[in-house]
Amino acid sequence: MSESNCLFCKIISHELDAKIVYEDEQVIAIEDINPVAPVHILLIPKKHIESLDKVTEQDSVIVGNIQIIASQIAKDLKLSENGYRVVNNCGKLGGQTVYHIHYHLLGGREFGWPPG
Ligand code: AMP
Ligand code: ZN
Repeated sequence: MSESNCLFCKIISHELDAKIVYEDEQVIAIEDINPVAPVHILLIPKKHIESLDKVTEQDSVIVGNIQIIASQIAKDLKLSENGYRVVNNCGKLGGQTVYHIHYHLLGGREFGWPPG
């Protein structure tokens, strides 16, 4: 999917509404519209990268920062003590439905392993 008709690019440009929980120059974090856990936040780089499969070394700062932001949001939401999960779904078999790279921050319940 190209940038011009990408759902997350439209949220990033504020063309579409979302509940924004964090924003800086490179990253936006929003509440997932269809939460699968009491806390379900999407961390999305503002740069349109289709999936984890398409990242390059140029993206190392953004991808690294996302983990730090996830950890900070988890602390703010008091998830740290009990734990939480950060997930990237990549491609068809990985369960990706929106082709703009994003990470799910999930918390507030226990998660099984292996994932379904
Ligand atoms: P994935 O399946 O890993 O590509 O994740 C895409 C996620 O985006 C799903 O969890 C959806 O519920 C979520 N989603 C889809 N549309 C919206 C939207 N307009 N606002 C917030 N989250 C959305
Ligand atoms: Zn996009």
